[in-house]
Amino acid sequence: MTDEVHVDHLGELAGVPDAFQRLWTPHRMVYIDGAHKPADSSEAECPFCTAPGRSDVDGLVVCRGQHAFVVMNLFPYNPGHLLVCPYRHVSLYTEANADEVAEIAELTRQAMWTLETVSGPAGFNIGMNQGPIAGAGIAAHLHQHVVPRWQGDSNFLPIIAQTKAVPQLLSDARQRLAEGWLSEPHWPTEPHRLTEPQEGQA
Ligand SMILES: [Zn+2]
Repeated sequence: MTDEVHVDHLGELAGVPDAFQRLWTPHRMVYIDGAHKPADSSEAECPFCTAPGRSDVDGLVVCRGQHAFVVMNLFPYNPGHLLVCPYRHVSLYTEANADEVAEIAELTRQAMWTLETVSGPAGFNIGMNQGPIAGAGIAAHLHQHVVPRWQGDSNFLPIIAQTKAVPQLLSDARQRLAEGWLSEPHWPTEPHRLTEPQEGQA
């Protein structure tokens, strides 16, 4: 994933091009504000190392596993944007051990079950950016994005991304997701919500 993402008919979309760019480059939403960037790549400066040491509410932690945990993204690309991280301060997926890989995978699908039940998105983007060149906002600590998607969600993204209400929304979203967390398979028999996009939508 790079910053250079070309979208056909961009000029026909409403809004500020820079704001919409975030839709196509979700990594830019992660700690995009330099004020929240760690001073260095050490564990002491790492938000994913410090978050588990706080309370769930203060750290925006949604679910704690044995080797990995789930936290709200401080700069969500969409409401309910979650990050699945190992507790260990490792940078690359190839550095994660077998226990961490297994639990990151399990927590990722638990996040999908939970989001599907709590907020019913039409689809998901999941994935990891590996290294600053690939767009990782916090490159020093592995994190898997779980981004719920709705048709037309680009329409209100700029509002969500820039409103001061975001911290409150994050707190409310964390509580709803934590209380509704599903650790067992829970998916509609027919994943009816994961529908084909309408023509002209990504
Ligand atoms: Zn860390």
